[in-house]
Amino acid sequence: MNEADLKAYLSSSGAFLEGHFLLSSGLHSPNYAQCALALKNPMWAAAMGVALAEGWKGARPDLVLSPAMGGLIIGHETARAFGVDFIFTERENNVMVLRRGFSIPEGAKIIIVEDVFTTGKSTLETAAVVAACGGEVVGAMSVINRMGARALPFPSVSLLKLDLTAVPEAECPLCRAGVPAVKPGSRKF
Ligand code: ZN
Repeated sequence: MNEADLKAYLSSSGAFLEGHFLLSSGLHSPNYAQCALALKNPMWAAAMGVALAEGWKGARPDLVLSPAMGGLIIGHETARAFGVDFIFTERENNVMVLRRGFSIPEGAKIIIVEDVFTTGKSTLETAAVVAACGGEVVGAMSVINRMGARALPFPSVSLLKLDLTAVPEAECPLCRAGVPAVKPGSRKF
């Protein structure tokens, strides 16, 4: 999978939109990413999992772990490509935990897989669960990386780096140019 094909697919599936968007954070952005729309196609989801696993230069992990919901599909497909098990964390009373009988063996090498790296917060919360179990996070992966200059504290692989620059309305060049802002996820999309 090359980057041009992936970008074209993200656009055609509606997962990556360009325009003028009012984000849920209240900030304005010239683009918007909703990875779930790209992952609804199982063939593409599988291909993205293979591409992530192929992009990994380190040793094979023992387990792939994703934070729910966003990481579930791509994490599962990446685990399939590595030939290992897949488990997930979820929030309980706003705290990231392992439930459903999932466990991480002591010393297990873990790769965390997400759909999008935005602030890195959920990745770090998931890494804290691994550390509490005595496992080791050897890397993290995502379909889209929009972290900008921020970096995760372990090796990472992303299929696409996007410069998604969100700004307050007062600093928005699109507002200044008189382009109407739309809320992503509204019926227009
Ligand atoms: Zn604006």
